[in-house]
Amino acid sequence: MFDKVFWTFPSCVEAFKHCKPFVSIDGMHLYGRYDGVLLIAMAQDGNINILSIASAIVVSKSIESWSFFLTNLRCHVTPQEVLLVISDRSQAIKATFSADDSGWHPPRAFHAYCIRHMAAKFMTHFKLVILNTTYSPSKARYEWYMDALRGVSSGITDWAGHFNKEIWLQHCDCDRRFGHMTTNLSECITSVLKGTRYLPISAIVCITYEHLQKLLVTKGREAQSQLAAGNCFSQRLMASIEKNKEGISKMCVTHCDRQASVFVVEELESFMGWSQGSFCVSLSAGTCDCGFFQSLHYPCCHALAGCAAASIELAPYVHPIYRQEAVFKVYEMEFPPIPDESLWPECYGTMLYPNPLMCQKTTR
Ligand SMILES: [Zn+2]
Repeated sequence: MFDKVFWTFPSCVEAFKHCKPFVSIDGMHLYGRYDGVLLIAMAQDGNINILSIASAIVVSKSIESWSFFLTNLRCHVTPQEVLLVISDRSQAIKATFSADDSGWHPPRAFHAYCIRHMAAKFMTHFKLVILNTTYSPSKARYEWYMDALRGVSSGITDWAGHFNKEIWLQHCDCDRRFGHMTTNLSECITSVLKGTRYLPISAIVCITYEHLQKLLVTKGREAQSQLAAGNCFSQRLMASIEKNKEGISKMCVTHCDRQASVFVVEELESFMGWSQGSFCVSLSAGTCDCGFFQSLHYPCCHALAGCAAASIELAPYVHPIYRQEAVFKVYEMEFPPIPDESLWPECYGTMLYPNPLMCQKTTR
């Protein structure tokens, strides 16, 4: 009798090796003849394209179900060290990560909360300040927003104080989030798969295969043409770098070492809103006082000002995940075509029957 199923594809396992080192996980209820929950894990490449790398259908969002999904995910798809998982604040997920044999303990893996889920219970005004607080990539900016939050509600700052800082604050996450503070990735694919929630399980597996097959062809072709054009970095990275370059003519750079690696960069005019005036940049350490250099793993506007003042190439200071070769590698291993069912070999395995306990009690 059917109980639960986990599936992934070899191309997904290969693709994840070249994606950002984090996964976003989420679950959604099925609405077909049988009850159940579809759990998914999502990843993102260095050109902000997203892809689902593993799925499961389970009875409910229980500890047992999440444990089944996360154990298989860890064993078969994401065995990498120092991996981050972003999820909502589900107690079942939290309990799964805490289990002694989960394989998801620091320093091998880390867990972070989706900030949108955390802030959801607050009114719009508080929500904005909370989001700005959590997104702050530097301690100085975080403290500025915390003071603002304290001014409007000490209750909220007390509530925030109950959480471990590294689980919800960008400036405390040791730069593992790559700027991702929410489970938006998984919610994107949730909307792609919305229509499949009424279908039988075999059809859902088939649709995820076809969706990924199409995605890898399309994105693989795009990445290949970018490589052929001689582009070193992904298009989105280059767009962000161009944006960061906009303000550097209004910055004053002071060299602080003979190697041209450390600078103090002063903003003569406020750029991109909030400013603290001057920022220490270390190119070799990949850090800036603004926090964006280390959080996003590519040079912020201050680091770019330092590079420009010293006539230094920025390429060594960009994370390899943003290189066009890495983006191409995500889509390199394609999905083979599935032969017509009449050509499939005879199956001698166990026959599965639907679980009557999972049958929907009423038609929704
Ligand atoms: Zn900076």
